[in-house]
Amino acid sequence: MSFNIAIDGPAGAGKSTIARKAAEALGFTYVDTGAMYRAIACYLFEQGIAPEDTAAIASACTGADISIRYENGEQIVLLNGVNVNDKLRTEEVSAMASCSSAVAEVRQHLLELQRSLARTQNVIMDGRDIGTTVLPDADVKIYLTASSEIRAKRRYDEYISKGQEADYDEILAEINERDERDMNREVSPLRQADDAILIDSSYMTPEEVLDAICKLVKEKEKE
Ligand code: C5P
Repeated sequence: MSFNIAIDGPAGAGKSTIARKAAEALGFTYVDTGAMYRAIACYLFEQGIAPEDTAAIASACTGADISIRYENGEQIVLLNGVNVNDKLRTEEVSAMASCSSAVAEVRQHLLELQRSLARTQNVIMDGRDIGTTVLPDADVKIYLTASSEIRAKRRYDEYISKGQEADYDEILAEINERDERDMNREVSPLRQADDAILIDSSYMTPEEVLDAICKLVKEKEKE
């Protein structure tokens, strides 16, 4: 039996950073489901489909064959056999992913892939609906959040440290918009599962969050 950890939470809460570190510390496979939604978005964008065109998204998404490969512990997303990792973080793809991930057909298309990864190995999987929908029986469920102002500030600092330009108010508005869409969509909205443990990282260092998660896992493993 594999051991599964689900981490959900809003954009910019630090899920992927923490999940990657926790996977390394625990010897688990890190599964980034956001990257899968981004890969479908990448396909839809390349097809020239508008983010608001729900009907076109629903029918076109089955043309995106998504698979995952691991190289040195890093998740590589293949879209119709091609590595698209370096295309997933653009503005266009982020905007498309935020809309297309609300379409039921898109979610259905990825569900079996996500579940099959968790069936065969110990995974730490992050996303928006892992604890509620994808892996309702996960051994440990975490809901990782932080205030939107702090999430925006972290993202702002990240851009600045890379020498890129950034506008804090714009980032904050974008984060609030994405939260609104993720939390209020009809299919698999972002919410804390009843049995998930809430970690508010607003005033915690990444190391403190990592420690808290590793402790929870160790306790559960002992049971
Ligand atoms: O986490 P990340 O920002 O990479 O996710 C990209 C997009 O995919 C987000 O807009 C989010 O709405 C969506 N997503 C989702 N369900 C997941 C993971 C991501 O709807 N499990």
